[in-house]
Amino acid sequence: MGSKNYASLRMATHRAATQAQFVCDALTSESDLGDISAEILRQCLQRNSRDNMTCMIMHFADGSEWTNYPDEMKNYEKLVDGDRDEDVQSHYATFLSTAKFPAQAVTCNVCQRWLVQMQQCTCKQTFYCSRHCQKKGWKVHQAVCPNKQAK
Ligand SMILES: [Zn+2]
Ligand SMILES: [Zn+2]
Repeated sequence: MGSKNYASLRMATHRAATQAQFVCDALTSESDLGDISAEILRQCLQRNSRDNMTCMIMHFADGSEWTNYPDEMKNYEKLVDGDRDEDVQSHYATFLSTAKFPAQAVTCNVCQRWLVQMQQCTCKQTFYCSRHCQKKGWKVHQAVCPNKQAK
């Protein structure tokens, strides 16, 4: 191996070690592996990477802690309101259906989160991510809820 190759290999190894250290630092009991992966990809984009990037963090655990957490679609605003590049939109639609999300965003009336399963008011016009948000939102929603006004 030439010395130039050796130098670039060392550089790549150094970068990998820096990222590994970043993952170690970011891992706490509260952290979300998806958020950490997204941050790594963001950093690569900032360094002007043109590669087709995939980031995978392996976490060896049985996963039972997460079985009660429904899947959440994050950063959907960018694709809902953003540029309507047809290619991107069609990949997005495929991704939604594979992940079992409806084609249109159904968001929490209080905090705007979009989970795969949402709670809804009996009037079926307002959605909430949780009982907590539903209670919080009722103060405002009761003024306009058709079910409440019918009584
Ligand atoms: Zn909510
Ligand atoms: Zn209602």
